[in-house]
Amino acid sequence: MFANYGYKDASGDYFITIDTDKCDGCEDCVTACSLGIFEVLDEDPNDPMRDEPVAIVKNDKKKKLKYECNPCKPKDNVAPLPCVASCKNQAISHSW
Ligand code: SF4
Ligand code: SF4
Repeated sequence: MFANYGYKDASGDYFITIDTDKCDGCEDCVTACSLGIFEVLDEDPNDPMRDEPVAIVKNDKKKKLKYECNPCKPKDNVAPLPCVASCKNQAISHSW
């Protein structure tokens, strides 16, 4: 299942998507993101049937992604983001 965290405004869509079928709760993204965007929970708040740990975007970060992630975004849009690069399961993607 794809869990989308973020928002859209007049300037665009700002979502981080976590593919929870790929996420194994390893916490590598938690370590990789210096701004503490992610956390790993023992149970998936979006899927009560899931018992394994899963990464989510923290509630207090969901409405700030455009600003919090902006310094991380490479000017050439080529270099991978730290969070995306950290996920060996390729479970993380950004909409912008
Ligand atoms: S690095 Fe990937 S697999 Fe590990 S917790 Fe984060 S999203 Fe899940
Ligand atoms: S782009 Fe940077 S600040 Fe945003 S979630 Fe990824 S590592 Fe964290």
